Amino acid sequence: MFPADAADAATLLRYADMAMYQAKERGRANYAFYTEYMGRRMAEKILLHERLKLALAYGGLALHYQPQVDVATGRMQAVEALLRWTDPQLGEVAPDRFIPVAEATGLILAVGAWVLDAACRQIGQWVRAGSPLRVAVNLSAQQLRQTDLVDQLRSSLAQHGAPPDLLELEVTESEAMADPEQARLMLCNLQALGVCVALDDFGTGYSSLSHLKQLPVSRIKIDREFIRPVLRSGADATLVRAVIMLARTLGLHVVAEGVESPEQLLFLAQHGCDAYQGWLYSKAVPAQSVLALLHGDDPAQASVPAALA
Ligand code: C2E
Ligand code: CA
Ligand code: CA
Repeated sequence: MFPADAADAATLLRYADMAMYQAKERGRANYAFYTEYMGRRMAEKILLHERLKLALAYGGLALHYQPQVDVATGRMQAVEALLRWTDPQLGEVAPDRFIPVAEATGLILAVGAWVLDAACRQIGQWVRAGSPLRVAVNLSAQQLRQTDLVDQLRSSLAQHGAPPDLLELEVTESEAMADPEQARLMLCNLQALGVCVALDDFGTGYSSLSHLKQLPVSRIKIDREFIRPVLRSGADATLVRAVIMLARTLGLHVVAEGVESPEQLLFLAQHGCDAYQGWLYSKAVPAQSVLALLHGDDPAQASVPAALA
């Protein structure tokens, strides 16, 4: 709007462009007015995109690993790789801040390829160190639509000597359900390669049971939004119990995310959840710390199984 937003035509057009992007983000048949907030958001998006592109070149990305623990035995059975970015100018940038930008700009394909390759390299290293460990990697919707994903994975696995069955791909429930038939075909190809698939953030999307039954997945991860209030909210407790039962019926493993207290763990144990992930056991840690946790060198972990006694 002239003259409220800007005094010259070039700036007005630039702002109108931002408003158009905002309107498009909201879906079809929408409108939006430029606001200062939009300008700031766009500037941040451009900055993050530029810096992230550089990070791929300067080596600013790293994978940390969060243990997945067997509820019954208290032993680590796998890890989830979580991306960490430290930028010389911006400091540590949280994935919740840069992953959406990378998805919006398409940079997620290059970032995702880096993550997959780094995870395969780590799997290979742990195998050669005599501690084979399954590593779960988050896959974004765009990667799932990549036609050469299977080839890319095959070559990373081979190059690093990583057995395919030690790689698990986490696909969110909403990604898998956006186009169930396309997802099913891709997941079948991945399964044929020998990697396993987990449905992430389960409970936040809307799976139809018939689609769920057809997807070649081996694990369901209950989103931490349901675990956080599980002891306070009857509705969430019912949902978590129902998901565990559903998974049992379909012959799938269940992992609960975001377990922070012994009481939450006890609830999960009582209802037959297979595994959990959360700060109660450990945050995501650098690769070197994983083996120490695995071999029980960390005294802090000794108290966890005791919570179940
Ligand atoms: P997610 O897949 O749901 O990952 C779990 C998130 O929960 C991680 O956040 C983890 O640090 C956090 N978390 C784990 N235990 C606890 C707990 O006990 N309490 C609480 N409050 N939080 C816990 P993080 O590392 O910040 O990652 C956020 C999201 O960013 C991930 O959510 C995932 O969607 C995305 N992400 C991370 N790495 C990658 C990646 O390599 N590729 C893609 N596409 N997405 C990634
Ligand atoms: Ca995940
Ligand atoms: Ca989650």
